Amino acid sequence: MIKYNLKCENKHEFESWFSESKEYDRLKKKKLIECIFCGSKKIDKSIMSPRILNSKSAKISENQDLKKFKRDLINVRKFVEKNFEFVERNFADKIREVYYNKNNKRNIYGVATDKEKEDLKEEGIDLISIPWVEKDN
Ligand SMILES: [Zn+2]
Repeated sequence: MIKYNLKCENKHEFESWFSESKEYDRLKKKKLIECIFCGSKKIDKSIMSPRILNSKSAKISENQDLKKFKRDLINVRKFVEKNFEFVERNFADKIREVYYNKNNKRNIYGVATDKEKEDLKEEGIDLISIPWVEKDN
């Protein structure tokens, strides 16, 4: 079933159900569709109601925002992967190594536990956490 908003030559608008879009064309050709208000057989499909259009476009822009947000996060990830050295183990120790050694100008990244983050913060080392998005979805 498909629902169309129809409009007659006198601008009366009404809704009508058809089994398929072809049925509308068939009935229109045979002049079997008439205005429920004035009986006119000059009927056209009218545009969807603004409410439907609005909710549809809102959804689209929401998806695009999400996609853009994700693209941004992926760019952050790519930047970090390119410019930072990944430290898999003893991240907290490596941070101290870099932090306290003035000749050591490495950028590093890795995973720290909440406890490690707290300890480091007490030492005056503030970490930045970034959301880590998967690249392939
Ligand atoms: Zn009419």
